[in-house]
Amino acid sequence: MGTWLPGDLDQGATAMDDRALYQTILGLTTPWEVERVELREATQEVDVWVAAATGTAFGCPQCAAVSPVYDHVERRWRHLDTCQFRTLLCARVPRVRCATHGVTTVRVPWAEPGSRFTLLLERLAIAWLQDATPTAVGRRLGLSWDEARGIMERAVRRGLARRTTAPVARLGIDEKSFLKRHQYVSVVVDLDRGCVPHVADDRKATSLTPYFTALTPAQREGITAVAMDMWEPYCTTVRAHVPDADAKIVFDKFHIMQHVGAAVDTVRKQEHQVLSAAGDTRITRTKYAWLTNPANMARRARRAFAALRDSTLKSARAWAMKESLRRLWHYTYVGAARTFFRRWYGWAMRSQLEPMKKLARMLKAHLENILTYLTHRITNAVTEGLNAKIQWIKYGARGYRNRDAFKMAIYFHCGKLDLEPRPS
Ligand SMILES: [Zn+2]
Repeated sequence: MGTWLPGDLDQGATAMDDRALYQTILGLTTPWEVERVELREATQEVDVWVAAATGTAFGCPQCAAVSPVYDHVERRWRHLDTCQFRTLLCARVPRVRCATHGVTTVRVPWAEPGSRFTLLLERLAIAWLQDATPTAVGRRLGLSWDEARGIMERAVRRGLARRTTAPVARLGIDEKSFLKRHQYVSVVVDLDRGCVPHVADDRKATSLTPYFTALTPAQREGITAVAMDMWEPYCTTVRAHVPDADAKIVFDKFHIMQHVGAAVDTVRKQEHQVLSAAGDTRITRTKYAWLTNPANMARRARRAFAALRDSTLKSARAWAMKESLRRLWHYTYVGAARTFFRRWYGWAMRSQLEPMKKLARMLKAHLENILTYLTHRITNAVTEGLNAKIQWIKYGARGYRNRDAFKMAIYFHCGKLDLEPRPS
């Protein structure tokens, strides 16, 4: 029996506990185990050295053939902080020499190949990035903005690579502006699943060609309806790629009502100029009253507006046309809707209000694909949640200053992709 040395035993016990603790925290499985833990008080960092048990045979990462170890490379991965210490997982990773594939680094179970972060850190970052900006997540996890963005980008890349092109029956095509509102991306929305399978540069006729040409003929055939704005380039694309497109294109009713609202507003502006020149301030500061659906007005506002609405003002007539047109989308039968529109069109054309006449002519020219709504009952607003998310991406983060970053973020938040990192 030797002399009992409490100091020695203590040190030994502490070292054992550290190793066991980190073994558990890191979720390491054989053959990998914690070799030693190096605490650096000064920099508040801890290096957890991990090694494979001696005698472990390694396989080639490409063909799994057990191959002799060629050499080792020292690698470090950022892990979640432990006990407020910046934690790095360190290992001398073996490189094997495969007869077929030459010298390659073996796979480690705690990180994706090429990543500088452990799976756990990446997973947590991805989960937090769903609701917070890269800046905020970076601050919480001690990552730089570039690192947080890098995690996001890799997540999207792996999500897109894993994706199988699911058939889309009803889709929406929508333009989204970004930066100073003169740059666009085209967003393809799966209206049934409520996600974005594709984002393309621009809003030209050729913008969505890669999306459609990537589909099989059966998938293109399987598209039953397409909601979009009255935007000729999108019509051209859909006609070029989707069989029987004219029966499937539905001009989004909310976009149409926006055009109608704009025409009413033009009437109001012109009238306001004439009236205020004569000292009549009846319609001063009433812009939004004419545009709001009366059903959404507060009672007092509605009563104040009623007097204007029932007047003989030009704005009041234009407004009545706008409100009446809403009925178009309530018809069950196309024939009845057509009759209704014919009457509405006559009313607008006799109104002597140029903006309303111009609008009526435009609607008439697009009528067939407005009436397809009665068959398909789709709008791009079905995906209200998505639109709100895209708005959040656009205004919430200062980082999305270029098109690629904006597209990446749309895929990240709206793509319903499998973003999870996995070791292989
Ligand atoms: Zn091999």
